[in-house]
Amino acid sequence: MVLLSGKEVQEDIKRKLKEEIENLVVIPKLVIVQVGHNEQSEIYIRNKKKLGEELGIVVEHKKFSESTKEEELIQEVEKGNKDQLVGGIIIQLPVPKNLDLFKILNSIKPEKDVDGLGVNQTGLLYGGNDKAIIPATARGIMSLLDFYKIDLESKNVVIIGRSNLVGRPVAQMCLNRDATVTICHSHTKNLKEITQKADILIVACGIPKFINDEHINSSQVVVDVGINKADGKICGDVDFDKVKDIVYAITPVPGGVGPLTVVSLFQNLLDRVPY
Ligand code: NAD
Repeated sequence: MVLLSGKEVQEDIKRKLKEEIENLVVIPKLVIVQVGHNEQSEIYIRNKKKLGEELGIVVEHKKFSESTKEEELIQEVEKGNKDQLVGGIIIQLPVPKNLDLFKILNSIKPEKDVDGLGVNQTGLLYGGNDKAIIPATARGIMSLLDFYKIDLESKNVVIIGRSNLVGRPVAQMCLNRDATVTICHSHTKNLKEITQKADILIVACGIPKFINDEHINSSQVVVDVGINKADGKICGDVDFDKVKDIVYAITPVPGGVGPLTVVSLFQNLLDRVPY
């Protein structure tokens, strides 16, 4: 079995980003807008700040209380939109349900939408335009597949999950690379029959160890996007121990897609220079 180490790929990308940053006159800042408290978000933000520090990129974390109104958040976004030193603005998800997330995301100037979740960037992505800012996890998965020279052309790719953050952009990226793509979700019937036929299986359903030895085949590449806590330990959406000796290649959790998501965000930020 080939272990697809996201950490190794992250190191390679970090090295290239550092070289790029050394040659910049002005290093763009990243603004993270967070609303309320969420344990997972705290971890993700900490990781973004840590990597920003390592790369020499200023990450400004603007934390708002749970009861903050949309208008106030949009005002904060507007400040970033106008600030020449701010290269990217992201809204840390999830936000409280009473807020109009669509409106907030679309208040970010398209060229500073480094999470690629506003209509401009999604329009470019779904239109097959290579100028689109790709949501970080999807970009990270593509970097991983490229690093390990896993070609997508004419491959049968099955994706479990259809979220705007992961499933849909990954599916579109695979389509743009000439794969034949099947998206499965909570209403899909006969899941096992579909997953068994995949050359590449990408799992992002948020259910600990959901995929096991019954879902896979021996020539398969499995990308586990899930980050869950079960029995006090971090695990993916794939039961790693049950499938690792069967499949051709698999990402570990932790150490797989996670490190690539955070570094891809900084790639998105630096791709915009000069924005
Ligand atoms: P989400 O909850 O928004 O979406 C889950 C998707 O799974 C939905 O589309 C749903 O239809 C599908 N699903 C649910 N039950 C299913 C079932 N029984 N069969 C088939 N499909 C089913 O989650 P998300 O934001 O896309 O995240 C998915 C997972 O990826 C989570 O574990 C999350 O923590 C993780 N994640 C990891 C990273 C990373 O950097 N590695 C980044 C983002 C999300």
